[in-house]
Amino acid sequence: MNAAEPLIVGLEFGGTKCIATLAQGQTILRQERWPTGTPQTLHTMSDMLAHWQRETPFAAIGIASFGPLHLDRSAANFGHMGNTPKPGWAGCDIFGHFARRFAVPVGIDTDVAGAALAEGTWGASQGCAVHAYATIGTGVGLGLVVHGEAVHGHLHPEAGHMRIRRQPGDMFAGACPIHGDCLEGLVGGPALAARSPIAAADIPDDDPLWQVVAADLAEWCAMLILAVSPERLVMGGGVIQSRPKLLGLIARRSAQLLNGYIDDLNAAALECLIVAPGLGANAGPLGAVVLGQRALAASA
Ligand code: ADP
Ligand code: ZN
Repeated sequence: MNAAEPLIVGLEFGGTKCIATLAQGQTILRQERWPTGTPQTLHTMSDMLAHWQRETPFAAIGIASFGPLHLDRSAANFGHMGNTPKPGWAGCDIFGHFARRFAVPVGIDTDVAGAALAEGTWGASQGCAVHAYATIGTGVGLGLVVHGEAVHGHLHPEAGHMRIRRQPGDMFAGACPIHGDCLEGLVGGPALAARSPIAAADIPDDDPLWQVVAADLAEWCAMLILAVSPERLVMGGGVIQSRPKLLGLIARRSAQLLNGYIDDLNAAALECLIVAPGLGANAGPLGAVVLGQRALAASA
């Protein structure tokens, strides 16, 4: 830890839980978490932040949230939630809530863009010009970084809602309330809960369902590799982080799907390209911290 580094608050909003982190560089000093629930959680979090601010004044806040998010700074809806099916959250002014209450720079991006930036800064994607972070949790998302900047375009990547080629014989209708059997609807936490009679966390590692999940994710990875050519594709999130064997299955199946077309991307190379977060379970929380660091730098 460099004592000269400013204290930054990172707020990660996930599909299931929200995490507030006080950090100096990548060193985590305090952390609190809450169930995501309704937007009332914003008040609970900002009350806690006001308490932190009195005890350990921080210099900036970074918000890393599930999407879709409006991120066009020139638009009236900057920092508002888009059309999320999460009850109460659609249209919520998540950026404004914190920017109005705290007199410090506030940055905002998607949870996966933040995590990708954190992996590029401190984790598994250091030194990569083009890299991505995928979360396989309650939702499925992708943050894409090109030359140190998270990709924003018309909106931002929402690659978890792509439809992939289905596995032969898999008749599950899908659990995405918007698309049914998009990738999130096939392998996100609620999809696993709907596919299995037991909770996702309790499904044994040798259950055949994991072969389907790995094959579905490999279809997606092969498409991502062909579409954006990442040098590193980090995969985190609650579904995958406690199932490390899935990554090897995904890499090997991706190699079969690519079938030698990109000649140096064989299975061994893909096992180095598709990896677990270097920051482990802190990729998301530190992603929010990086967004706060960047907001502070931009305000200087
Ligand atoms: P969030 O989506 O809030 O960011 P996570 O990335 O931790 O949070 O993902 C939470 C999801 O991960 C839940 O839907 C849960 O069912 C699932 N999950 C948690 N542990 C496991 C596990 N061991 N195996 C499979 N799925 C799990
Ligand atoms: Zn969807």
